[in-house]
Amino acid sequence: MNPFYYSVAARAKHRCEYCRAPEAIFNFPFEIEHVLPLASGGTTVEMNLALACRSCNLFKSDHLSFVDPSTDQISRLYDPRIDNQNEHFEFNGMSGMVKGVTPMGRATVNCLKMNSENQILARRQWYRPGLFP
Ligand SMILES: [Zn+2]
Repeated sequence: MNPFYYSVAARAKHRCEYCRAPEAIFNFPFEIEHVLPLASGGTTVEMNLALACRSCNLFKSDHLSFVDPSTDQISRLYDPRIDNQNEHFEFNGMSGMVKGVTPMGRATVNCLKMNSENQILARRQWYRPGLFP
C-alpha cells in the first residue's frame, strides 16, 4: 500500500478527486496519483498527490494538458490541489454525465474519458442509493 494512501484518501473523502467515483463500492483501494507526473518533475509529496479511480488515473497518465473539444484549444488539466471542482464541472447523477463547464473542465473530461459508456452506466447505478454525485 502506498504510504500516503491513508492521508490522501481521507483528504479526498474516499472519492476519486477527478470524477467523484465513490471508493466505498469498489473492491480495491483507489490509486494515489501524481498531479504533476513524475515524468514532468513532480515529486511524491502530499501536495502533489490525489486519490484517483483506475479509469481516471489510466487516462490521465502523464498528461498535463489536453484539447477542449468545444474550442479545439489546448487547456491545462484540472488540478485537484489548486482548482475548485465545482467551478469546472457539473455532475449529474440521473444522466450519469460529468460536464466540463470551463475550457479546463472540458479538456479534463475529454482526456480522462469521463463520459465513456462504462462510466455513465456506473454513475447511474451509484446515483440510486445516493452514492453519486
Ligand atoms: Zn475517477
